[in-house]
Amino acid sequence: MARLTVKNTLDEQKAYGVFSEPELTRSGVVEDHNIILTTNKECPFKCTMCDLWQNTLDYRVEKGAITKQVRDALDQLPAAKHIKIYNAGNFFDRQSIPKQDTFDIANMISHYETLIVESHPKFVSTPCFEFAQYLEPQLEVAMGLETVNEEALRQLEKNMTLDDFKQATESLLAHDIYVRAFILLQTPWQSEEEGIHWAKESIDFAQSIGVECLTIIPLRPNPRIELPDFTPSSKEALEEVVAYGQTKKKGRVFGDTWDAA
Ligand code: SF4
Repeated sequence: MARLTVKNTLDEQKAYGVFSEPELTRSGVVEDHNIILTTNKECPFKCTMCDLWQNTLDYRVEKGAITKQVRDALDQLPAAKHIKIYNAGNFFDRQSIPKQDTFDIANMISHYETLIVESHPKFVSTPCFEFAQYLEPQLEVAMGLETVNEEALRQLEKNMTLDDFKQATESLLAHDIYVRAFILLQTPWQSEEEGIHWAKESIDFAQSIGVECLTIIPLRPNPRIELPDFTPSSKEALEEVVAYGQTKKKGRVFGDTWDAA
């Protein structure tokens, strides 16, 4: 598999995505969520199938740059109770977002009820818990579980074990931080049928350790990886897995239709 490296041209002064969309909340009502996709240094983990690197920089931005991006984005966004600030990586990675910026951002969004950020389980530690304590909104951390098939997890080069994921989830919950997880509908090394099986197993695992919100992500092409036999996941497979998760009635289960035709 050859790795290509062409990234989109980004302005480090601007978040590369600013929009609002409705989402079902954990209290069972559909409410608008404001979403800010910040422009910052690429995630250090470089997991095999992650395509978020396309909208990242190769260098660390100056202190204050992410705060400015968020401030300008907030000025453009409508009123909402919930906000997602996604940095194509780990909110607590200081190479991506300097520590002071995270607290300055917390001050700017104190009127929101919920803040959702992304993190790899290995960045779930004291800085995350200190931030949650300082923050006015309820913190929710989204982590990529991807799959409970341990061989596929190794092939994805996730740099974590299932135990790492479980420990991070337990630590977050123990600090009253909500958890959501991303699950892949299929990995490139699985047939659709195998993918459906393992995605359901992954839902069972995540819900059994207390993850309340799950997003199922279909297999998508990644320009960095050449997969000669790549076939996108079908809509029917996504519907089957999401319906399976929802019938368990242990929390929210979404299907990710980002980039869907
Ligand atoms: S940790 Fe998350 S953001 Fe980073 S490369 Fe892996 S999947 Fe992508």
